[in-house]
Amino acid sequence: MVRPPRQTLVPLFLPHQGCQRRCIYCNQSVIAGLGGEESFSNQIDRGLSGRTEPVEVALYSGNLFGLPADELLGLLRMLEPYQPVIGSIRISTKPVPLDERVVAIIQQAGVRTIELGMPSFNDGILAALDRGYTTAEFYTSYRYLERAGFTLGLQVMVGLPGETEADLESMRRHLSALQPSLLRIYPLVVLEGTRLHGIFRRGDFHPLDIDEAVRRAALLYVHALLEGVTVIRMGLSADEVLEQHIVAGPYHPSFGFLVKAYVFMNAVMSAWADLGQPPALTIKLNSSDIPHLIGYKRRHIEQFEELGVRLSWETGSLEKGCFVAESQAGRMGRCITDRL
Ligand code: SF4
Repeated sequence: MVRPPRQTLVPLFLPHQGCQRRCIYCNQSVIAGLGGEESFSNQIDRGLSGRTEPVEVALYSGNLFGLPADELLGLLRMLEPYQPVIGSIRISTKPVPLDERVVAIIQQAGVRTIELGMPSFNDGILAALDRGYTTAEFYTSYRYLERAGFTLGLQVMVGLPGETEADLESMRRHLSALQPSLLRIYPLVVLEGTRLHGIFRRGDFHPLDIDEAVRRAALLYVHALLEGVTVIRMGLSADEVLEQHIVAGPYHPSFGFLVKAYVFMNAVMSAWADLGQPPALTIKLNSSDIPHLIGYKRRHIEQFEELGVRLSWETGSLEKGCFVAESQAGRMGRCITDRL
């Protein structure tokens, strides 16, 4: 299949517009790229004027579903002068309130993809985050939007207050049931100027350390791969957040890489164990997986050295995420989705 070329993404920000209430962890003013007080119309002109190729416009940072229909219409009309270069529009929003008029407006405006924030499928956690809806209400919106023909994505989180292994298992079950087209996975970090910051200061919230956040995200990542769900982002990137406003928590500018490397290393370690822990191991792999084998700052090489194992690698025509482990004791093929 020949894929159409990916369109350049032009993000436009509507900080906290339509939010109606503030989720306890959120402070959009520390999200990079918001351009300070730059008006929406200025953002549009800056992002779209002079374009000749079709772009994808993304409306981020607020809850478009929470805007009154006429206000939303007014915002979307501001895009009209640039219609010839707007190939498609995506939005991110809370799943509520679900207003059929609002959905019809965004559909007519050319929105094709909707990313819904769904940090957890545990109603107690959703309430603690002050999201203002339940899992059942989320499902009502999701199924409605699905029937309306939108491409749907989910933005989920790990490391939420009170989160347990059962919540992660529940998240995996819901991902299987929902089959979103896209997924973003964010570890919860404490941002300045949020209610979570106050809770953290009182000692009532303990964020995950980076290793545990990577492990939890990896569980969801592998599950998404098994389900054929495209993971488009893991963790806030340095482009997305102003780092100086992160008070605590598992922030890492290469979080997504850490998760992929963790998953790859786990698969290699299990192959090594199954081969009887030989003192020398050669991994044949797709060249794009070499960084995952080496690990962040060569961490995996050091881990093998500490185990007294000589690790080498060769590239071959293997699928991304799959490899062949060879030692004097034998060889075996494995993929990152085989087990975690
Ligand atoms: S997470 Fe989304 S809905 Fe919640 S306050 Fe932030 S922008 Fe609004």
